[in-house]
Amino acid sequence: MIHKILVANRGEVAVRIIRACREMGIRSVAVYSEADRDAMHTRLADEAVCIGPAPAAQSYLHIPAIMSAAEISDADAVHPGFGFLAENPDFAEIVIASGMTWIGPSPEAMRTMGDKVAAKRAMRAAGVPLVPGSEGAVRSVDEARLVAREAGYPVIVKAAAGGGGRGMKVVHSEGGLSSAFNMCQTEARAAFGDDTVFIEKFLEQPRHIEVQVLGDTHGHIVHLFERECSLQRNNQKVLEEAPSPFVDEETRAAICAAGVAAARAVDYVGAGTVEFLMNPDKSFYFIEMNTRIQVEHPVTEWITGVDLVEWQIRVAAGEPLAFTQRQIKRKGHAIECRINAEDPFRFTPCPGKIELYHPPGGRSVRVDAAVYTGYTIPPYYDSMIGKIITHARTREKCIRRMQRAIDELAILGVTTNQELHRRLLANPAFQQGAFDIHFLENWLRQLGQH
Ligand code: ADP
Repeated sequence: MIHKILVANRGEVAVRIIRACREMGIRSVAVYSEADRDAMHTRLADEAVCIGPAPAAQSYLHIPAIMSAAEISDADAVHPGFGFLAENPDFAEIVIASGMTWIGPSPEAMRTMGDKVAAKRAMRAAGVPLVPGSEGAVRSVDEARLVAREAGYPVIVKAAAGGGGRGMKVVHSEGGLSSAFNMCQTEARAAFGDDTVFIEKFLEQPRHIEVQVLGDTHGHIVHLFERECSLQRNNQKVLEEAPSPFVDEETRAAICAAGVAAARAVDYVGAGTVEFLMNPDKSFYFIEMNTRIQVEHPVTEWITGVDLVEWQIRVAAGEPLAFTQRQIKRKGHAIECRINAEDPFRFTPCPGKIELYHPPGGRSVRVDAAVYTGYTIPPYYDSMIGKIITHARTREKCIRRMQRAIDELAILGVTTNQELHRRLLANPAFQQGAFDIHFLENWLRQLGQH
């Protein structure tokens, strides 16, 4: 049994977890930085402990401060949310060694999936399709040349320890290979303290499709179908949906089975996401697994009716999943728009005071946000302040409902990306589901020229 959860995060995900705790009769402890005294998570939790100054390195990433907060508040479990320490296996180990429950997968699973070369090795053994490329690490330019010739150009050189879209270089022909290889190695050493790199074929028009999985400590692993996350800018997702408008039933069965196989290979416990790239011919390849809850989890919750955060907590407490794969059904369509406090076309953050906040409401509209009228968005953290999720029987109706919800949203005092969503939702290619991972950036570039 878990009685009190320390939420090692801030913003809307902290609020999401605190809400789940409240509904489950579990006490919640928020941790907050000096810049977050008036933040919603600080106010909503049953208890709140200040863990340090505004910069994340001194607060939300500062393990000793968080562990002290857990001890003084007598928490018996830690939920890391996403971002910050959520994928740090050392943090998970410290939580476990302190006798608390870690709400997430095992540190070993996190470690394997956090190292792209180790992850690919595990996936190859499990029969999960991989992007053609090197078997493992590539140690020299000569080896890189052989691998790239075999895979065929363009290729992408990646750092094993990379993340968040960093530590990758695309190479279009052999002439550019040696400098890209050396640069990637040097940068990886500087940024991650590990210069292991590997090579993959660069897929030119892929979609980003990911599979939600959920595992318990009794050996059950299920999938909760796929999400379409191709609409990205700088590797940041902007709008996500479930199901993918591109995936047919046969492909869905195959990619979801691959997601379960990936999770099974690391004895996965909790909620996780297996990310794939899918070619126009619907062939798909594993790229990475995120060993945590994701921003876009609500679209899956809405089409399946499964409360993912509740189940993260239940399986961490040792409960078996209460449903089998066959009992998980898909219903309708869900879309999520991320609301960021930023200039929507220059993508520069716009922190500041919210003079007025009026969220949309009405039928089948969900708002997961961490702001209120009079709240000042601090400049130190991510610009995402919340998200709007809509559900409907069909994708077409879901888009209309989201258009209505975006129109209703009123945020005065700071600039947000509301207008970007308005235009994207009206875009014919978006409406037809005809896009790949380059679509949003190309479209924004065109908008910039007009
Ligand atoms: P990170 O851990 O930094 O997020 P990923 O391996 O998940 O790195 O890749 C991030 C993004 O880079 C992908 O979503 C995709 O847009 C692009 N990418 C990665 N590998 C390839 C590839 N082999 N071909 C084409 N694009 C790729």
